[in-house]
Amino acid sequence: MTDILTSTEAPIKLNCPTCKKVVLWNDEFPHRPFCCDRCRLIDLGEWASESHRIAGDSLNINLEENPED
Ligand SMILES: [Zn+2]
Repeated sequence: MTDILTSTEAPIKLNCPTCKKVVLWNDEFPHRPFCCDRCRLIDLGEWASESHRIAGDSLNINLEENPED
């Protein structure tokens, strides 16, 4: 994996984890390995809904549900 960051040859080709579109590992795809920001957010949403959701959301929920506590 570390070779990807240092390579200056032909860009690495991979597939968007969300929609499987071809993504090139260069500045044309700032959201890589996703093809676009939408796919990135979709993937994060699915990831968060499984087991890590509590870690990020519970703080906000507590603050909003107990404003006077
Ligand atoms: Zn995509």
